[in-house]
Amino acid sequence: MKLYLASNNAHKAAELASLAARDGLGVEIVSARAAGGMPAVAEDTGTFAGNARKKTRALCAVLAARSTGPGHADAWVLADDSGLEVDALAGAPGVESANYAGTGATDAANLAKLLAALHGVPDEKRTARFYCVLALAGRNGEDHLFEGFCEGRLTREARGGAGFGYDPLFIPEGGTRTFAEMGAAEKNGFSHRARAWAGLAEWLRGRK
Ligand code: IMP
Repeated sequence: MKLYLASNNAHKAAELASLAARDGLGVEIVSARAAGGMPAVAEDTGTFAGNARKKTRALCAVLAARSTGPGHADAWVLADDSGLEVDALAGAPGVESANYAGTGATDAANLAKLLAALHGVPDEKRTARFYCVLALAGRNGEDHLFEGFCEGRLTREARGGAGFGYDPLFIPEGGTRTFAEMGAAEKNGFSHRARAWAGLAEWLRGRK
């Protein structure tokens, strides 16, 4: 089964491909580029689920015009919308995580803004969670949503060189190192994306 990934984020693609390979479900994650290119999508619905659905619809429209699209047997479109909710910031940056420091902001700019916003916030109040919604869209408008979250806390400075986004600041509950200090396989043992993927994997197993 092919899952066309409605994203240009290579890190998300790598994590999802590694989850698919780990679970041995016979699923192949195919890049948006191979499918014809991911169109720009305004992530303006205010929810992870709404934004994820918008992304699947955008890539479905591209694929529908091509012979390899969801008209093709057992091809589906998968989107990931995710972000970080920080308790001391009343849930910000949340659905705005990618653009926290401005439209198209770099990860470094987003990290710097978050650290500045949390300046002086004591350790016990630096709690946060990552959310991920995976939206799956098939032919005839069939769609499914799978959610996952990961509780944790934020460090006072960036640590580690792996991963992406806010990984260098986030220590998952029960861990001692940031996501950026872990390899992809270890991060997949905790992450919001892996937990959302678990729901998708269960759905896939139920189809067999
Ligand atoms: P979007 O899903 O394209 O709106 O972007 C999600 C944003 O949330 C990313 O650009 C990151 O800033 C952040 N994010 C989502 N998942 C992760 C993760 O696993 N690690 C670090 N940052 C993440």
